[in-house]
Amino acid sequence: MDDRRFRNAMGMFATGISVITTTLDDDVHGMTANAFMSVSLNPKLVLVSIGEHAKMHHYVQTTGKYAVSFLAEDQREISMTFAGQMDGQRSVAFDWFNGLPVIRDALAAISCDVVDAHKAGDHTLFIAEVSDVRLAAGQPLLFYQGKYSRAHAFA
Ligand code: FAD
Repeated sequence: MDDRRFRNAMGMFATGISVITTTLDDDVHGMTANAFMSVSLNPKLVLVSIGEHAKMHHYVQTTGKYAVSFLAEDQREISMTFAGQMDGQRSVAFDWFNGLPVIRDALAAISCDVVDAHKAGDHTLFIAEVSDVRLAAGQPLLFYQGKYSRAHAFA
């Protein structure tokens, strides 16, 4: 099976969009990720799968902490910014939550501490315990078949 066929199949699974953020030596770094999941309720665990060549891989390994912001439907440019898909350096508004930067006006934000890391092929699964969550109202930004999308609720 070639990579394109695999990617096409994975693209049929619609997801939300998160931005993973952390801070190291006063530098804030963010990365767009949809390989995020909730893992356990007791204890409260989440995970994100990060490519071994991503700068974020080094940041999370070094700090042992990350925050996750779930993007709202009007935050497509933010997703593109943190996926390296926008021309030039963009200035992004962050809030500080439990000592971690999070995306302002995101639908929800989670602060967490890494408790386990598993290498899986060319990615690492960073499992983390949630220390706090912050919620806002709004609609999510979705990703489906390689394109951004909006949610349409059944009537
Ligand atoms: P860079 O490529 O250097 O940074 C990413 C971008 O963020 C750069 O443009 C940088 O300027 C900008 N940036 C970083 N910090 C700041 C800041 N403080 N202020 C302003 N801009 C900043 N990859 C995965 O490993 N796992 C996934 O689950 C995943 N899901 C994805 C889902 C989608 C929808 C998309 C589009 C991409 C996804 N990627 C995923 C790919 C990943 O987002 C990119 O490969 C990303 O460029 C890797 O970031 P990096 O840490 O290597 O840093």
